[in-house]
This record gives sequence, C-alpha cells and structure tokens, in this order.
Amino acid sequence: MKPLYSLTIAEASELLKKGEFTSVELTQACLDRIKEKEPEIHAFITVTPDYALKKAREADKRLKENKDTTPLTGIPYSIKDVYNTKGIQTTAGSKILEGHISQYNATVHQKLEDAGAILVGKTNCDPFGFGSSTEYSAYGSTKNPVNTDYVPGGSSGGSGAAVAYGGGLFSIAEDTGGSIRCPASFCGVVGLKPTYGRVSRYGSIAYASSYDSIGPITKTVKDSAIVLKYTAGKDLHDATTPDVPVPDYPELLKEKPGKFTIGLPKEYYGEGLDREVREIIDSAIEAYKNLGFKTKEVSLPYTKYAIAAYYVIGLSEASSNLARYDGIRYGQKGEDTDWNTYMETVRGESFNEEEKRRIMIGTFALSAGYQDQYYKRAQKLRELLKQDFARVLNEVDFLLTPTMPAPPFKFGENMGDPLKMWLADAFTVSINPVGVPALSVPAGTTEDELPVGMQLIAPHFKEDLLYNVAHLFETS
Ligand code: GLN
Repeated sequence: MKPLYSLTIAEASELLKKGEFTSVELTQACLDRIKEKEPEIHAFITVTPDYALKKAREADKRLKENKDTTPLTGIPYSIKDVYNTKGIQTTAGSKILEGHISQYNATVHQKLEDAGAILVGKTNCDPFGFGSSTEYSAYGSTKNPVNTDYVPGGSSGGSGAAVAYGGGLFSIAEDTGGSIRCPASFCGVVGLKPTYGRVSRYGSIAYASSYDSIGPITKTVKDSAIVLKYTAGKDLHDATTPDVPVPDYPELLKEKPGKFTIGLPKEYYGEGLDREVREIIDSAIEAYKNLGFKTKEVSLPYTKYAIAAYYVIGLSEASSNLARYDGIRYGQKGEDTDWNTYMETVRGESFNEEEKRRIMIGTFALSAGYQDQYYKRAQKLRELLKQDFARVLNEVDFLLTPTMPAPPFKFGENMGDPLKMWLADAFTVSINPVGVPALSVPAGTTEDELPVGMQLIAPHFKEDLLYNVAHLFETS
C-alpha cells in the first residue's frame, strides 16, 4: 500500500471507516513526514503534534462508535497561519504577530474540527498574504517540494508545499488575488478560490476584506469538493456570507457534465505568456474538445487595468486593516516609552519592506486629495471588470486560462523587483474584485518537470460546475 500520508481524503476516509488503520496511525504518518521534510522544505511555522494526536484519538472513538462521522473525521490537515486557532500561535507570517496566541477559532477551523478533521499545524506564508512566492515570510521562505531550487508560489506557499509532500492530506489557504491558485499551480495540486462569501472569513486575519476568500488546497478535485461541503455556508459572524444553500459538491461530481462551451479570453493568451505554459494549456483545451466541449474566443478588455485596480483597492484596504497592529493589543511588545516612539519603533522594526511598501501605498491612495484620483477610479474599474465577466460568463459556461503566465520561478528571481512580482499575478487578480469562483487544476509539466496549472472560472456560486468539469479532465 502507498504511504498513508500520500493518500487522498476520499481514499483515507474509506479505509478509516473500514478500520484498515486508525486516525492516530494516519496522523502519526503525516507528523513523521513533516519531521522528515521540514528541514528542507519549511512549509510550517508551527507544528502541533500533541494537539493532533489528542484530536486523532477523539476521532478514532467517533469512528469506532460510528457516530457523527463525516468524510473528514480523522483526516489530518494544515491551515495557513492567517487563521485563528484557539490556544495556538497565529502570526500571519509577520514578525509583528510573533508570539500571538489566538483567543478563539476562525469559523473555517471550527467547522473542520466539528467535522472531525485533525489540525497538524499552521503553514508558512507571505506576511498577511502579501506576495506570490512566500519569500517575504518573517519566518524564512518555503521551498517547492517538486524542485527545491524553485519557489512554491504564494502567498500560501506553505499550504501548497505541505499538501504536495504529504504534511497533512489537505490545507486551508486564503486567496486575495491568487494566493490559493498560485501555489496550487506551482506545487502541482488543486486550489479553489470560492465565490466571495461562500466560506466565512470570521477569524481570518484580513488582507483586503472585500477580496479575501477562503478555500482548500487538495490533491484532487474530489477532495476539494469534500472540504468545501463542510466549510461553506452562512455564518452569523460574517455578514458577507449569503444564505445560499450549500450543494452536496462530492455527490454532484457523479453527474456527467453537459457539453459545455468554454470561453477563452484572448487577453490571457497574448504577449507575456510562456511558451511551455501555452502548449500545456493548449493540450488541455484539446482534451476538452475531444470530450465534446466547444470553445469560443471571448474578450475581457479591462484586463489590462486589473493589476492597477486590484492593488489600489487591495492596498487601501490592507493599510486600514493593518492599522490595528500597534504592538499593544497583539503580539510584539516594545520598550516602555511615549506612545509615538513606541508605535514608530514597534511598527518600524516589525514590518518588513513589503509590508511597509503596501501600507504606504494604501495610505497614500486613500489620503485626502488623492482619493478621487486613485481609490475612486480603481473602484470604477472594479465595476467595469465585473461587467466584463458578467457579459462573457453569459456567452459561455466557464472560462479556461493558464493560472500563472509562467512556470515556477527560482528563489530571488523577482525579489529585487516588486513590480515584476506583482505582474506575476496578472491572470489571478481580476477574479477577486469580481468575486466569482476559480479553480486551479494541474494541467501538465514543463520539460524541467515543473508543474503548470490551468484556471477554470465560473459564475458566482457555480463551484459545482467547476468541480464537475475539472474532475472530468482529471479522470479522463
Ligand atoms: N500575490 C497577490 C498579492 O500579493 C495575491 C495575494 C493573496 O491572494 N493573498 O496581493
């Protein structure tokens, strides 16, 4: 049999129910794997072995009594370090929160615990989700398990790497402009950015509140459907979660998808797209055609302004969200001086260059006199982007694009050039201001055996459609 840590959720759940092994054994296998791989990969900021084994024993009891079990009972998972987990350190990848112990559970974590899943640790990320490579983390960067010369993507690089090497069977990550999809693409796993509001943001550390989406990174599409089923839904703690019923996503996978029309937005297939990525995506499109799908070229003309609009709004929200880190209420303590010196020292020493850059740009864009010029214009663009997507998603059933314009890059390659790093997100950032769901699925590998993901985009709350067509691709 395969090593336990390499099983999918669906496989492990079946075997746990049959009593082939226990959750303690499965959890121990993941913890051993973490011990083996962490010195090289560094996917975790905090590992919680004692907590995990305690929860695994509880899960075994539930499984044995066959009471209140779900397909997630006894399944080990990790969570990006931007989610509050009661009694466990939560840093958001930033030095300013070093030593901060959560007082309560984020809804997504609570729901997973209620379903019987086992937390094995908190994964590394760029601070507050600011990045595309996990190189900005205050706790050191994460390596790509596929090839350690390359970045795992970001900002949820720890989650992508942990799932890829078997440090838990799935991970919960966060996507403000691509942070689930980018690491999924770079690490060769599946990442879902759900519809905005589909999964509660309560207890997640905010980057840009109107973009932040919470979703799973998994080995397969089916596993993603399982996790979404148990994490989605209305939450009284988060007013942006609408009362839209949660479908039985895994069950719906059994239905054969219709002969859909795929939209290919021409702005995503132009200049700047890597040749090998293009070839891999082209063969994925061919595969769909062979399955009877039709394709249609569509246009999203406002795409060229997406990065600018995304960053102006995102950083404006970030600058105001990060104003609460004063070194008094959370984490980091400074010397006992006057208030101004205290704030200046704590924020000056604890935020790194990227965090400062983003706070300053956001503050500038919101300042009196500039608001109309930047923030309001960006909001107008957001509206135009929404109209773009609404129009094309009316013409076709879903869109197919590369997730990232290029394969994983090497460490340091984009670090000296913040703009280059931001441009890497060209294909993922539009989705968050618009709020639709998008799924990154492995589409192939380059000649150097680096993973390449394709991105499928559907109308609001059509995650079931994404799963259906992605599952078809994955299994055919
Ligand atoms: N890389 C993008 C950024 O830096 C997206 C980050 C995210 O989704 N958290 O803003």
